[in-house]
Amino acid sequence: MGDTEYHRKLGIGTSAFEALEDHLERRAYEGREYRHVPDYRRGVERGTVLIAGEVVRGFPKVPRTLVLETGVPTQFEDRVAVEEKLNGYNVRVVRLAGEQLAFTRSGMVCPFTTRVLGRLVDLEALFDENPEAMVCGEMIGPENPYTAHDYPEVDSLAFRAFDWRDRRTGEPLDVADRRERYERYGVPQTRLFGEYALEDAASEVGRIVAELDAEGREGVVLRSPDATTLLKYTTAASTRSDLAYAFSLPFDYGQAFMFRRLLREGFRTVERGEDDEDARERAHEIGEAILLSMREAIRTVEDGGSIGERHTVRASHETIEALLEHLREQGLTLEIKADRREDGDRVLTFCKRVQSSNDKIRNYLEGHVVQE
Ligand code: ATP
Ligand code: MG
Repeated sequence: MGDTEYHRKLGIGTSAFEALEDHLERRAYEGREYRHVPDYRRGVERGTVLIAGEVVRGFPKVPRTLVLETGVPTQFEDRVAVEEKLNGYNVRVVRLAGEQLAFTRSGMVCPFTTRVLGRLVDLEALFDENPEAMVCGEMIGPENPYTAHDYPEVDSLAFRAFDWRDRRTGEPLDVADRRERYERYGVPQTRLFGEYALEDAASEVGRIVAELDAEGREGVVLRSPDATTLLKYTTAASTRSDLAYAFSLPFDYGQAFMFRRLLREGFRTVERGEDDEDARERAHEIGEAILLSMREAIRTVEDGGSIGERHTVRASHETIEALLEHLREQGLTLEIKADRREDGDRVLTFCKRVQSSNDKIRNYLEGHVVQE
């Protein structure tokens, strides 16, 4: 297909498409070439894919509010649906030429997710009846190659749908229809807490988030009933676990990542009207998340070890080989920590090497002085 067709399908002019083309990343999956939009560009969602004449839209960026009471009314007009925000990795599944493909947030085909998906959810009937559907959801659980977060209800890996969109336009189904359809097709979904009137939404979310926080869960995503407006709000537990993770690899996470998370807690303590004692308690918990994880990282290097992002995956031998190849193709250096068989599956634990944190911590331990 010529590019003239792509610009029409994307709904942009030829010159806008030409400008976009310079930023497209070209890749192949099992001999099929495709191009994707790897970062934020005006007009076209990050993660949008052009493949075999077809367009697969990216998943939109979800704005966040730091203050519920004032932030919620700026986004919504009437009713607000509140669903759980799960901490895993985003995946969009579509069926192209009879084959289901799972795309990551930035628009790469993930060979691991594409292969394991069939074990977790049966989407055949859904795609038979809705060939243009884009099933959007989160892959959660401890055994995956990208984000390990534990959920008591997930042993290894699970899929939870949170959106149903048209893959060509990105248009979502409204919340009620989406929930009803996924239910009908037997697709597991993220939890719906309820739909609230705008004037009650902030306080209801405050209550729900307090419960999620106590369980160490991530937060909520609010939607207008037509699912076109989204807003996220997360728990203090999620902030702390992000900070602990980032400071366990202190020179590999952008400082902006840490700073944004600290701000969340500043606004939270004010919105909640905490007294000195509660604010101190919050400060203490944040401090522990930062310092204890950093101490562990520095000690590991001091003892001659190395730090990195550790993941465990469980799948067929072939799936794991495809994953390793995919990660190495992206320039990652992997260290295999354990590789065993269990119930016919291969269970692999590996570390993604992070260079900066290891080098810098070692240098500082050896007495390198800081020019600042
Ligand atoms: P974003 O660019 O969307 O802000 P991010 O990488 O900063 O992405 P997050 O802070 O995790 O990500 O928030 C958005 C992501 O949350 C979505 O991309 C999606 O993968 C995930 N998510 C989990 N649960 C839901 C849900 N119920 N509704 C929407 N997104 C959800
Ligand atoms: Mg996330």
